[in-house]
Formats: sequence, C-alpha cells, structure tokens
Amino acid sequence: MKKIAIVGGTHGNELTGIRLIEKWMKNTTLVARNNLDVELLYGNPLAIRNQVRFIDEDLNRAFHVDDLNNPPGESWESQQAHRLNKMLGPKFNNPSVDVIIDLHTTTSNMGNTIIIYNEPFNMKLAKYIQCHEDNVRIYISDKKAEDTVGLQSVAPHGATIEIGPIPQGVLFHEQFETMERTTYHALDFIQAYDNAPGFDITGEIEAYQRGVLIPYPTDESGKICAMLHKDIQNKDYCLLKKGDPMFITFSGKVMHYEGDAGFPVFINEAAYYEKNMALRMNKKIMLTIPPRDRL
Ligand SMILES: [Zn+2]
Repeated sequence: MKKIAIVGGTHGNELTGIRLIEKWMKNTTLVARNNLDVELLYGNPLAIRNQVRFIDEDLNRAFHVDDLNNPPGESWESQQAHRLNKMLGPKFNNPSVDVIIDLHTTTSNMGNTIIIYNEPFNMKLAKYIQCHEDNVRIYISDKKAEDTVGLQSVAPHGATIEIGPIPQGVLFHEQFETMERTTYHALDFIQAYDNAPGFDITGEIEAYQRGVLIPYPTDESGKICAMLHKDIQNKDYCLLKKGDPMFITFSGKVMHYEGDAGFPVFINEAAYYEKNMALRMNKKIMLTIPPRDRL
C-alpha cells in the first residue's frame, strides 16, 4: 500500500469532503504519513462548481469495468469516470493507486458509516477505524468485484466514509471534525499496515450487508403518493419488522412494512427521491477477518 487517493466531491453538493480536501491541499502535512504517497483530489469538479450532486448522471455509479473499457459516453460523468480511471486506475489492470478513500455525506441519520467492498484489507481498515472512533458502523457491499460501480472500486482497496445527517450543500462543524478524524484513522491504519509486516487486525466484525432498495408507493401515473412515516424517520440501523409503520399516504392512510425484518439505511436520503427510493433494507451479519499472513 504505497499510493493513497483521498477524494472529496464525488457528489458535488456534499460539502464536508470538498472543504476537507481544500483544507488538506493548503496543509498537506495533515495527511502526510511515513512512506505513503497521498494524493488529494476532487471527484466531480464541474458538479462542485455548480453545487449539484451531478451534471448528467451519478458519478459514483459510472465505474463499471465494461463502461471503463469502452469509449466514454456522452454524459459529463461518463467522461469524468474515464479521466479518473486514467489517473487512479486502470481498474483491474495494475492500477496506479492502492487505496481510495472517498468522502461522502448523506441526509439520512446514518452517523459515521464506513462503506466497503467485501475484501480482507478493507475489513481490517474498517475495524481499525471502529476501534479508534465511537459509534462507527460498517456497511458492506454484496456486489461481486466485476459488478462494482463506485469510485472506490477503481483501486484494489478502499472505503467510503459516509456521514449524516447533513443536508445537501451544508456544512456541520461536528460532522466535519468526525470525517477529518476518521480519515486520519484510515491513513494511520494504512501506514501501520505498510510499515510493519507484523501489524494486523483480525477477529470478527459486525457489518450491515447491503440489501434491496424499497421504493415509495406510487399512484397509477407513477407519482409518489406517500411519505415515510414519522416512526421510521431517523431510525437508520434500527430493526424494522413486518407490520411496523413505514409510509403514510397524503390522505393519511398508514402503510405497514410487509417484508422480512431488517435494518433500514439511507432512510429519506434526498438524492434517492429522483429514483423514487425511500430507503435500503440491510441485513446484520458477522464476518471473520483472515490474518494477513494467510492472504
Ligand atoms: Zn455521496
């Protein structure tokens, strides 16, 4: 692990990561670590300038290996994904960067969440952060490597730091500090792992495995006809069972959850409205982290 990229503004209206990158660009000693080459960059500069999540499409879904191996499409984000893949990748083909730390915020009450793909180094990184920072949850992707589409998948290892609730386009001091500390823990872990072959993080982790998206109820014309019920608002990571109130129609009818019990996340995420999505239902799982000498 020699080369690390820290990225802010993959979504252009998530200010916390953007301002942190600015801060570190002015004072690179804050992110300098022994023997590590740390690169700082903005994921989607045009979206940042326009203070929007994206220009044409979600950049953080534009890194499928097939898309990157074909010429870029018309959209700004497709072209930006190709540029980032050239800079940090190429994905799956001896990429120039070893680890990508991608900084995000959510309007949902998810606290400090480390989102990772299922891979031993990432699990070690996430557990290290959990050991050094209060109230950290680990969210693990169920995707196979060849199906990954997020920016962090361009490097062999990585994590997304996702902090909320923060409105889009807004800075909160406390969450700014949390994201800053969390990034430093990630760098400290990579430095320790890289510099000391005997250093390791093993044992079990509790993780929330990515599950299905639950859409808003819609009327015959496809328009959203209900909102999330007040009982579920801000209850990210709280067990939701069959029969619990989930939505309420604008005429006042409560709609109950019908599926298997699970742990909802991204509840009422503002960016999900354009896709009519209300939340994602994750499962809680335990994972064992293999020792590094067996990797
Ligand atoms: Zn984001």
